[in-house]
Amino acid sequence: MSVNAIFKKLALVALALLHFSCATREPGDPITPEYNVYSKEQDIELGREAAAEIRKQVDIVQNEELQRYVRDLGARLAGQPQAGDYPYEFTLINEDSSNAFALPGGPIFLHSGLLDHADNEGQLVGVLAHEISHVVLRHGTSQASRAQMVQLPAVIAGAVLGQQGSVLAQAGQIGLGLGVNTLIMKYSRSAEKEADAQGAHIMAGAGFNPIEMATFFQKLEAQGGARPPALLSSHPGPGNRVRLV
Ligand code: ZN
Repeated sequence: MSVNAIFKKLALVALALLHFSCATREPGDPITPEYNVYSKEQDIELGREAAAEIRKQVDIVQNEELQRYVRDLGARLAGQPQAGDYPYEFTLINEDSSNAFALPGGPIFLHSGLLDHADNEGQLVGVLAHEISHVVLRHGTSQASRAQMVQLPAVIAGAVLGQQGSVLAQAGQIGLGLGVNTLIMKYSRSAEKEADAQGAHIMAGAGFNPIEMATFFQKLEAQGGARPPALLSSHPGPGNRVRLV
């Protein structure tokens, strides 16, 4: 088979997978990761590389007690079966806004503003559980996969050919421009709903009341006014999502 023929075949397989992943989920069905060209191992590698880049650029809170507090809370959630088997890492950074983000494979960054705005531990836990859910549902690379559908055959070919170097570097070599920004771009509304629902399960499993997640998102929405806090601008539709939790 010629290289072109292989590419065509891979593209067809990819389209079939994409179509399959668009099937609607019935209520009560477990939430499973969607279409993704990356392996779980690549998620972890990508996240590690991106986290190293981010650590150079952000102001990490230099208070070991606070970092340990966040780490311990995160570990309680990460120990739940619904959190999957990922090497989670929780880092508190100096940012006044109420925001947080997760990278593929486990690194999660929390803005220190969350500590000011949360009324109780449960609300902070709600954000952590939500971010853990983005990791286990692999929303970052799933979204990147969809965005790169056109170039998918090149991605697979790159993997098949066993290109050397990091995953980020490989993606760069084949012109995908897959960078840190791609991995933390705004998620779709359905991805956010999934993260809420999965996060609620994780919270409950760890002995927290999932309603606190909904309460916190409601509170942020109420505070939003004309200029919503960052969490809302990067996490759409809080009005809708509250009902799901
Ligand atoms: Zn989210």
